[in-house]
Amino acid sequence: MTRLTDLADAGLVPAGAAPERLATGAIWSEGPCWIPASRTLRWSDIPNDRILQWSWDTGEMSVYASGVEFTNGRVIDDDGSVVQCSHGRRRVERDRDGVIEVIADQWNGYRFNSPNDVVVKRDGTVWFTDPPYGIIEAREGHPGFREYGDHWVFRADPVTGDVRPVVLDVEEPNGLAFSPDESVLYVADTSSARQPAGVGNRCIRAYDVTDGVRCKNSRVFATVGSGLADGFRVDAAGNVWTSCATGVEVYAPDGEFLGAVDLPELTANLCFGGPDGTTLFAAASTSLYSIATTTTDARLTRR
Ligand code: MG
Repeated sequence: MTRLTDLADAGLVPAGAAPERLATGAIWSEGPCWIPASRTLRWSDIPNDRILQWSWDTGEMSVYASGVEFTNGRVIDDDGSVVQCSHGRRRVERDRDGVIEVIADQWNGYRFNSPNDVVVKRDGTVWFTDPPYGIIEAREGHPGFREYGDHWVFRADPVTGDVRPVVLDVEEPNGLAFSPDESVLYVADTSSARQPAGVGNRCIRAYDVTDGVRCKNSRVFATVGSGLADGFRVDAAGNVWTSCATGVEVYAPDGEFLGAVDLPELTANLCFGGPDGTTLFAAASTSLYSIATTTTDARLTRR
Protein backbone atom coordinates (compact mmCIF):
# COMPACT_ATOMS: atom_id res chain seq x y z
CA MET A 1 0.00 0.00 0.00
CA THR A 2 2.99 2.28 -0.52
CA ARG A 3 1.19 4.43 -3.01
CA LEU A 4 -1.57 5.02 -0.47
CA THR A 5 1.03 5.86 2.18
CA ASP A 6 2.34 8.51 -0.19
CA LEU A 7 -1.11 10.12 -0.20
CA ALA A 8 -1.21 10.02 3.61
CA ASP A 9 2.28 11.54 3.76
CA ALA A 10 1.07 14.27 1.40
CA GLY A 11 -1.78 14.96 3.83
CA LEU A 12 -4.47 14.00 1.32
CA VAL A 13 -5.90 10.98 3.13
CA PRO A 14 -5.95 10.30 6.89
CA ALA A 15 -3.23 7.99 8.18
CA GLY A 16 -4.54 4.44 8.10
CA ALA A 17 -7.33 5.19 5.63
CA ALA A 18 -8.32 2.18 3.55
CA PRO A 19 -10.75 1.74 0.67
CA GLU A 20 -14.06 0.01 1.33
CA ARG A 21 -16.42 -1.69 -1.10
CA LEU A 22 -19.88 -0.20 -0.54
CA ALA A 23 -21.95 -1.96 -3.19
CA THR A 24 -21.64 -4.34 -6.10
CA GLY A 25 -23.77 -5.95 -8.83
CA ALA A 26 -23.31 -3.53 -11.70
CA ILE A 27 -21.80 -4.45 -15.08
CA TRP A 28 -19.98 -1.19 -15.79
CA SER A 29 -20.16 1.67 -13.31
CA GLU A 30 -19.75 5.29 -14.33
CA GLY A 31 -20.90 8.80 -13.51
CA PRO A 32 -20.82 8.89 -9.68
CA CYS A 33 -22.35 11.97 -8.05
CA TRP A 34 -23.10 12.78 -4.42
CA ILE A 35 -26.66 14.00 -3.81
CA PRO A 36 -26.59 16.05 -0.56
CA ALA A 37 -30.38 16.33 -0.12
CA SER A 38 -30.89 12.54 0.03
CA ARG A 39 -27.42 11.67 1.34
CA THR A 40 -27.04 9.21 -1.51
CA LEU A 41 -24.38 8.43 -4.07
CA ARG A 42 -25.94 8.11 -7.51
CA TRP A 43 -24.18 6.43 -10.43
CA SER A 44 -24.73 4.86 -13.85
CA ASP A 45 -24.66 1.15 -14.64
CA ILE A 46 -24.43 1.74 -18.37
CA PRO A 47 -24.87 -1.76 -19.93
CA ASN A 48 -27.82 -2.47 -17.63
CA ASP A 49 -29.30 0.89 -18.69
CA ARG A 50 -30.05 1.92 -15.14
CA ILE A 51 -29.09 4.44 -12.49
CA LEU A 52 -28.10 3.07 -9.09
CA GLN A 53 -27.95 4.77 -5.73
CA TRP A 54 -26.26 3.95 -2.45
CA SER A 55 -27.55 5.39 0.82
CA TRP A 56 -25.12 6.86 3.34
CA ASP A 57 -27.66 6.28 6.11
CA THR A 58 -28.66 2.67 5.39
CA GLY A 59 -25.63 1.42 3.46
CA GLU A 60 -28.03 -0.14 0.96
CA MET A 61 -27.90 -0.04 -2.83
CA SER A 62 -31.09 0.41 -4.81
CA VAL A 63 -32.19 1.23 -8.36
CA TYR A 64 -32.94 4.94 -8.77
CA ALA A 65 -34.27 4.54 -12.33
CA SER A 66 -34.10 2.06 -15.21
CA GLY A 67 -34.62 2.41 -18.94
CA VAL A 68 -32.71 5.68 -18.68
CA GLU A 69 -31.22 5.69 -22.21
CA PHE A 70 -27.72 4.86 -21.08
CA THR A 71 -26.79 7.74 -18.81
CA ASN A 72 -23.10 8.24 -18.14
CA GLY A 73 -21.41 11.14 -16.32
CA ARG A 74 -23.29 13.49 -14.00
CA VAL A 75 -22.73 16.39 -11.64
CA ILE A 76 -24.91 18.25 -9.19
CA ASP A 77 -25.80 21.87 -9.96
CA ASP A 78 -26.04 24.71 -7.44
CA ASP A 79 -29.83 24.36 -7.25
CA GLY A 80 -29.59 20.69 -6.27
CA SER A 81 -30.66 19.34 -9.65
CA VAL A 82 -28.50 16.77 -11.43
CA VAL A 83 -26.97 17.43 -14.83
CA GLN A 84 -26.26 14.17 -16.66
CA CYS A 85 -25.18 12.77 -20.02
CA SER A 86 -27.36 10.34 -21.97
CA HIS A 87 -25.73 8.23 -24.67
CA GLY A 88 -29.07 6.93 -25.94
CA ARG A 89 -30.71 10.35 -26.23
CA ARG A 90 -27.41 11.84 -27.44
CA ARG A 91 -27.85 14.83 -25.15
CA VAL A 92 -27.11 16.50 -21.87
CA GLU A 93 -30.14 16.73 -19.60
CA ARG A 94 -31.25 17.86 -16.17
CA ASP A 95 -32.90 15.59 -13.61
CA ARG A 96 -34.88 17.71 -11.19
CA ASP A 97 -36.52 15.36 -8.68
CA GLY A 98 -37.07 12.76 -11.39
CA VAL A 99 -38.37 15.19 -14.01
CA ILE A 100 -36.00 15.16 -17.00
CA GLU A 101 -35.50 18.21 -19.20
CA VAL A 102 -33.13 18.85 -22.12
CA ILE A 103 -30.15 21.15 -21.69
CA ALA A 104 -28.52 20.56 -25.09
CA ASP A 105 -29.09 17.97 -27.82
CA GLN A 106 -27.50 19.48 -30.93
CA TRP A 107 -24.99 21.93 -32.32
CA ASN A 108 -25.80 23.74 -35.58
CA GLY A 109 -28.43 21.11 -36.40
CA TYR A 110 -26.11 18.17 -35.81
CA ARG A 111 -26.88 15.77 -32.98
CA PHE A 112 -24.08 15.02 -30.57
CA ASN A 113 -22.38 11.61 -30.67
CA SER A 114 -22.91 10.42 -27.09
CA PRO A 115 -22.13 12.95 -24.34
CA ASN A 116 -19.92 11.19 -21.82
CA ASP A 117 -19.03 13.47 -18.93
CA VAL A 118 -20.10 16.91 -17.76
CA VAL A 119 -19.24 19.78 -15.44
CA VAL A 120 -21.09 22.97 -14.56
CA LYS A 121 -19.01 26.14 -14.41
CA ARG A 122 -19.76 28.73 -11.73
CA ASP A 123 -21.35 30.97 -14.39
CA GLY A 124 -23.97 28.23 -14.95
CA THR A 125 -22.67 27.07 -18.32
CA VAL A 126 -22.55 23.31 -18.91
CA TRP A 127 -19.34 21.84 -20.38
CA PHE A 128 -19.35 18.29 -21.71
CA THR A 129 -17.34 15.82 -23.80
CA ASP A 130 -18.69 14.02 -26.84
CA PRO A 131 -16.75 10.85 -27.75
CA PRO A 132 -18.32 8.11 -29.92
CA TYR A 133 -18.74 5.24 -27.44
CA GLY A 134 -22.54 5.37 -27.20
CA ILE A 135 -23.01 5.14 -30.97
CA ILE A 136 -20.39 2.48 -31.69
CA GLU A 137 -20.71 0.09 -28.75
CA ALA A 138 -24.07 -1.70 -28.62
CA ARG A 139 -24.01 -2.19 -24.85
CA GLU A 140 -23.53 1.56 -24.28
CA GLY A 141 -26.27 3.06 -26.47
CA HIS A 142 -27.67 2.87 -29.99
CA PRO A 143 -25.73 2.49 -33.26
CA GLY A 144 -25.37 5.79 -35.06
CA PHE A 145 -22.95 7.98 -36.96
CA ARG A 146 -21.00 11.10 -36.17
CA GLU A 147 -23.26 13.85 -37.50
CA TYR A 148 -20.64 16.63 -37.23
CA GLY A 149 -17.84 14.20 -38.03
CA ASP A 150 -15.61 14.56 -34.99
CA HIS A 151 -15.41 14.34 -31.17
CA TRP A 152 -15.37 17.70 -29.44
CA VAL A 153 -15.87 19.31 -26.06
CA PHE A 154 -18.89 21.63 -26.00
CA ARG A 155 -20.12 24.48 -23.82
CA ALA A 156 -23.87 25.01 -23.49
CA ASP A 157 -25.48 28.05 -21.90
CA PRO A 158 -28.86 26.95 -20.49
CA VAL A 159 -30.02 30.58 -20.25
CA THR A 160 -29.34 31.73 -23.82
CA GLY A 161 -29.41 28.33 -25.52
CA ASP A 162 -25.99 29.01 -27.04
CA VAL A 163 -24.03 25.82 -27.78
CA ARG A 164 -20.46 25.99 -29.06
CA PRO A 165 -17.42 23.73 -29.36
CA VAL A 166 -14.60 24.78 -27.03
CA VAL A 167 -11.98 22.03 -27.46
CA LEU A 168 -11.42 20.43 -30.87
CA ASP A 169 -7.97 18.84 -30.59
CA VAL A 170 -8.69 15.85 -28.33
CA GLU A 171 -9.08 12.62 -30.30
CA GLU A 172 -11.76 11.14 -28.01
CA PRO A 173 -12.53 13.47 -25.07
CA ASN A 174 -13.90 11.78 -21.96
CA GLY A 175 -13.55 13.10 -18.37
CA LEU A 176 -13.26 16.83 -17.72
CA ALA A 177 -12.90 19.21 -14.78
CA PHE A 178 -11.91 22.78 -13.99
CA SER A 179 -9.14 23.95 -11.68
CA PRO A 180 -10.44 25.63 -8.48
CA ASP A 181 -10.37 29.13 -10.04
CA GLU A 182 -11.67 27.76 -13.38
CA SER A 183 -8.66 29.19 -15.21
CA VAL A 184 -7.61 25.70 -16.37
CA LEU A 185 -9.77 23.03 -18.00
CA TYR A 186 -8.59 19.42 -17.88
CA VAL A 187 -9.83 16.95 -20.51
CA ALA A 188 -9.03 13.24 -20.73
CA ASP A 189 -8.31 11.60 -24.08
CA THR A 190 -9.32 7.92 -24.10
CA SER A 191 -8.73 7.23 -27.79
CA SER A 192 -6.50 4.28 -26.90
CA ALA A 193 -9.50 2.44 -25.43
CA ARG A 194 -10.39 0.55 -28.60
CA GLN A 195 -6.92 0.41 -30.13
CA PRO A 196 -4.08 -2.12 -30.05
CA ALA A 197 -1.55 -1.52 -27.28
CA GLY A 198 0.47 1.61 -27.89
CA VAL A 199 -2.00 3.17 -30.32
CA GLY A 200 -4.14 6.20 -29.48
CA ASN A 201 -3.97 8.65 -26.59
CA ARG A 202 -4.49 8.03 -22.87
CA CYS A 203 -3.46 11.32 -21.28
CA ILE A 204 -5.13 14.20 -19.50
CA ARG A 205 -4.70 17.47 -21.40
CA ALA A 206 -4.85 20.96 -19.87
CA TYR A 207 -6.06 24.23 -21.38
CA ASP A 208 -5.94 27.84 -20.22
CA VAL A 209 -9.50 29.18 -20.20
CA THR A 210 -9.46 32.75 -21.50
CA ASP A 211 -12.47 35.08 -21.18
CA GLY A 212 -14.19 32.23 -19.33
CA VAL A 213 -14.94 30.62 -22.69
CA ARG A 214 -12.00 30.00 -25.01
CA CYS A 215 -9.55 27.15 -24.35
CA LYS A 216 -5.96 27.87 -25.36
CA ASN A 217 -2.43 26.53 -24.85
CA SER A 218 -3.32 22.83 -25.21
CA ARG A 219 -0.77 20.63 -23.44
CA VAL A 220 -0.38 17.20 -21.86
CA PHE A 221 -0.92 17.44 -18.10
CA ALA A 222 -0.41 13.83 -16.99
CA THR A 223 -0.60 10.22 -18.16
CA VAL A 224 -1.83 7.62 -15.69
CA GLY A 225 0.33 4.63 -14.86
CA SER A 226 -2.00 2.06 -16.38
CA GLY A 227 -5.21 2.01 -18.35
CA LEU A 228 -7.13 5.22 -18.96
CA ALA A 229 -7.92 8.45 -17.16
CA ASP A 230 -11.62 8.05 -17.91
CA GLY A 231 -13.07 10.41 -15.30
CA PHE A 232 -11.56 12.67 -12.66
CA ARG A 233 -12.19 15.49 -10.18
CA VAL A 234 -10.13 18.38 -8.87
CA ASP A 235 -9.83 18.98 -5.13
CA ALA A 236 -9.83 22.26 -3.23
CA ALA A 237 -6.04 22.59 -3.60
CA GLY A 238 -6.15 21.92 -7.32
CA ASN A 239 -4.91 18.31 -7.21
CA VAL A 240 -6.37 16.04 -9.89
CA TRP A 241 -7.83 12.72 -8.64
CA THR A 242 -8.21 10.47 -11.66
CA SER A 243 -9.45 7.00 -12.41
CA CYS A 244 -7.10 4.46 -13.99
CA ALA A 245 -6.87 0.68 -14.44
CA THR A 246 -5.65 0.13 -10.89
CA GLY A 247 -7.95 2.53 -9.06
CA VAL A 248 -7.28 6.21 -8.39
CA GLU A 249 -4.13 8.28 -8.98
CA VAL A 250 -3.53 11.81 -7.73
CA TYR A 251 -1.53 14.53 -9.51
CA ALA A 252 -0.50 17.96 -8.24
CA PRO A 253 -1.40 21.07 -10.27
CA ASP A 254 2.11 20.98 -11.79
CA GLY A 255 1.57 17.37 -12.94
CA GLU A 256 3.67 15.72 -10.21
CA PHE A 257 2.41 12.25 -9.19
CA LEU A 258 1.42 12.34 -5.50
CA GLY A 259 0.19 8.81 -4.82
CA ALA A 260 -2.64 6.41 -5.49
CA VAL A 261 -5.54 4.45 -4.06
CA ASP A 262 -5.28 0.92 -5.42
CA LEU A 263 -8.63 -0.78 -5.92
CA PRO A 264 -9.37 -4.38 -6.96
CA GLU A 265 -11.35 -3.37 -10.06
CA LEU A 266 -10.80 -1.26 -13.16
CA THR A 267 -11.98 2.22 -12.21
CA ALA A 268 -13.93 4.50 -14.56
CA ASN A 269 -14.84 7.60 -12.58
CA LEU A 270 -14.98 9.17 -9.12
CA CYS A 271 -16.34 12.04 -7.08
CA PHE A 272 -16.10 13.62 -3.66
CA GLY A 273 -19.11 13.45 -1.36
CA GLY A 274 -20.44 12.33 1.97
CA PRO A 275 -22.01 14.67 4.54
CA ASP A 276 -18.86 16.80 4.85
CA GLY A 277 -17.68 16.31 1.27
CA THR A 278 -14.42 14.54 2.15
CA THR A 279 -15.30 10.99 1.12
CA LEU A 280 -13.99 9.91 -2.26
CA PHE A 281 -16.33 7.55 -4.14
CA ALA A 282 -15.06 5.46 -7.04
CA ALA A 283 -17.22 3.80 -9.70
CA ALA A 284 -15.16 0.75 -10.56
CA SER A 285 -16.54 -1.85 -12.97
CA THR A 286 -19.04 -3.93 -10.95
CA SER A 287 -18.71 -2.01 -7.68
CA LEU A 288 -18.75 1.26 -5.79
CA TYR A 289 -15.84 1.97 -3.43
CA SER A 290 -15.06 4.75 -0.97
CA ILE A 291 -12.08 6.06 0.94
CA ALA A 292 -11.75 8.90 3.43
CA THR A 293 -9.75 11.94 2.34
CA THR A 294 -8.82 15.26 3.95
CA THR A 295 -10.06 17.41 1.09
CA THR A 296 -13.20 18.18 -0.91
CA ASP A 297 -14.15 18.89 -4.48
CA ALA A 298 -12.90 22.25 -5.78
CA ARG A 299 -16.53 23.22 -6.22
CA LEU A 300 -18.30 21.92 -3.16
CA THR A 301 -22.08 21.85 -3.57
CA ARG A 302 -24.03 21.15 -0.41
CA ARG A 303 -27.62 21.43 -1.55
MG1 MG B 1 -16.30 8.66 -18.97
